[in-house]
Amino acid sequence: MSERFFPDTMPAPLADATTLPFWQAAAEHRLVVQRCAACGHTRLPPAPVCPACRSAETDWQPVSGRGEVYTYTVVHRPIAAGQPLPCVIAVVALEGAGGVRLLSNLVGVGPERVEIGLPVELVWEDMSAELAIPRFRPRGR
Ligand SMILES: [Zn+2]
Repeated sequence: MSERFFPDTMPAPLADATTLPFWQAAAEHRLVVQRCAACGHTRLPPAPVCPACRSAETDWQPVSGRGEVYTYTVVHRPIAAGQPLPCVIAVVALEGAGGVRLLSNLVGVGPERVEIGLPVELVWEDMSAELAIPRFRPRGR
């Protein structure tokens, strides 16, 4: 079982036909980004049609989970009972992912130490047997 950062009371993401492959890979602790099978354009969040060429053919590209903070905000008001505060919501620019960014949380770091450009790495949080959420923590530069 992975380390836990947020309580079970946190609202869970809802998978649909477009996002289900992302969440299935996440449950196996594999971070993937959607890639157009026609032109190679990557996109996240997943979408049914490529914004670059309009193709509906897709595959899923594994990525390392390394990246850097593109931007962030600090949350001081809870959305769920028992939520640790303050917490940091960050947009992470993923390495080797064709320029896509993932909205997530930073863990293991106080808001006062977070800055744009901070190098981060993926850490999985298993919320249940079926749901793993990608979070990020600082890594050495
Ligand atoms: Zn395309």
